[in-house]
Amino acid sequence: MRKLFLPVAALLCITAGAQQKSPAVKFADAISAKDLKAKLSIIASAQMEGRETATPGQKKAATFIEGFFKGIGLQPGTPNGYQLAFPVYRDSLAGATFMLNNTPLVLDKDFTLSPTSFVTGSWAANEIVFASYGISDSTATNYSGLDVKDKWVLLLEGSANDGGKPNFRAARTKIVLAKTKGAKGIIIVSKDFPKAKPSAVLGNMYVAKQPGSPVPVLYVSQATASTILGKQVKGFDELNTAVRGVYNVALSLSVNSNNITLESTDVIGVLPGTDKKDEYVLVTGHYDHLGKKDSVIWYGADDDGSGTTSVLEIAQTFAKAKAKGFGPRRTMVFMTVSGEEEGLWGSDYYTSHPVYPLEKTSVDLNTDMVGRIDPDYKGDSLNYIYTIGEDKLSTDLLKISDSINNSTMHLELDRRFNDPKDPNRFYYRSDHYNFAKHGVPIIFYFNGVHKDYHQPTDTVDKINFPLMEKRVKLVFYTAWEIANRDNMLVRDIPLK
Ligand SMILES: [Zn+2]
Repeated sequence: MRKLFLPVAALLCITAGAQQKSPAVKFADAISAKDLKAKLSIIASAQMEGRETATPGQKKAATFIEGFFKGIGLQPGTPNGYQLAFPVYRDSLAGATFMLNNTPLVLDKDFTLSPTSFVTGSWAANEIVFASYGISDSTATNYSGLDVKDKWVLLLEGSANDGGKPNFRAARTKIVLAKTKGAKGIIIVSKDFPKAKPSAVLGNMYVAKQPGSPVPVLYVSQATASTILGKQVKGFDELNTAVRGVYNVALSLSVNSNNITLESTDVIGVLPGTDKKDEYVLVTGHYDHLGKKDSVIWYGADDDGSGTTSVLEIAQTFAKAKAKGFGPRRTMVFMTVSGEEEGLWGSDYYTSHPVYPLEKTSVDLNTDMVGRIDPDYKGDSLNYIYTIGEDKLSTDLLKISDSINNSTMHLELDRRFNDPKDPNRFYYRSDHYNFAKHGVPIIFYFNGVHKDYHQPTDTVDKINFPLMEKRVKLVFYTAWEIANRDNMLVRDIPLK
C-alpha cells in the first residue's frame, strides 16, 4: 500500500493565495475511516432490512438519515421537511382466466402473465396474428405484410440469431414494437416455459402509470402455441417454420389484480450558502437497496451504503466548517435518494420536481459504490477511483476534478468507463444521469463491480475504509471548490 503523503505546497492550491493550511484541508482531516465505519455500520445493519424502496427498512433508513441531518444542523430540504415523498405503485396478481376456443388453460402451467400485465380487465378476440419473433433482425422483418392493429399477436421469445433464447433486451424490443404497431394483446411462446417464478410471487413496482389502456403480455408453453396455430409443434425450432399470418382462434382473458399505492422518499438536508446562496451544489448517493427475503438480507454495504455514508460524512464536514465561520458560498444540498435499484426513481422524481432550480445547480457529485476494490483493477488498487462524466456538459469540470485531485488526494482517476457507449453503460446506471439528462454537470464516483455486487454478501466487513476515506475526501475537496469558486460551472458542451 502506498502511503499518502501530502506535500505542504500542494495543499495551498485548494484556495488560491492562501498563506497557510487551507480551511478545506483542516476540515477534511475530520473525514476518517473510523467515522465512515461507524456510520455505514448503522446504514448497512440488519435493522435496516436491506432498505428496499417502499418497505419498512427504507423508512427506517430515511428516519435515521433525517435525524442525522437535523443533528448536524442542516435545514430541511423541502417546505414539508427533510423527506421528499413520491408515490410508488405495486401490483400483484389475484387471479387470471385464459381460454382458447373455450378451453380454460392453467396459470403457470400453460401460461403466465408478465408483471406489467397485473391489471384488472377482460379481453376477447377471434383471431391471433403470428409474427414469428416480432422483431426486425438480420434474417427477417417479421411484420412484413401483416396488420396487427387492434389485434392480438403471437410471437416467439428471443431472436432467430440466438435460437429463441430468453433475452431481456429482445423481450423489451418486441413488446415495444408490437405496441407501436397497435397490438392490443401480446402472447410470447417461451422456450423455457414454465418460467421459474410463478405469477403469484412476481410483483410489479413502478412509479409512472402508463397512459392509455394496458396491453397484456402473456408467456405461454409450446403446447399452448400449438393450440393457437392449430397444429402440434414438436419443439421450438419447428415454431420457426410456422407460417406467419392470421389464425382463427377464440381467445378470452380476464385478469384480477391488487393495485396499491405506496410511498418512498428522498432525504434532503441543506446548508445555506453566503454570497451565492441562490446557486446550488448537490452531493448525492442512493440509500435504497434490494431488501430482504425470509431471513436473507441484502445489506448493500457498498451499494450504496458507502455512497449514503459519503453524503452524510461530507455534509457533517461542511456543517463543521460553517460553524467555524467557513460556510460555503453556494448552498449545499445533500440528498440521499431511494428507488435507485428499481430504476433511478428518486433522482428522476427530484429532477422532474426540483426543489432547487436545476439551472442554478452548478454540479451533482454522485457516489455509488465507493468502499470496495474492483478485482480487475490493474493499477494501484489501494489508490484509485473510477470517475465518469467530467468531460461532459462543462469544460470546467475535468480541469477542476484533475487539479483538485492533483493538489490533494493524488488518486488514480480512472476514466475507463467514462464513455457512454461502454458496454457496461455505467454513465446511465446511477442517479447522476437524471441530472445530466437535464443539463446539470455531474461527476460519478464508482469503485467498479465485484463478486458481492447485488448479493447478500455485500457487507460492512468487506469495505476498505482507509481507501474509502481517501475517496470521500476527494469528493469533499471537489465539492468545496465548486461551492466556493467565483462562477458556476459553465455549460458549454451540449448533451449528446
Ligand atoms: Zn445496485
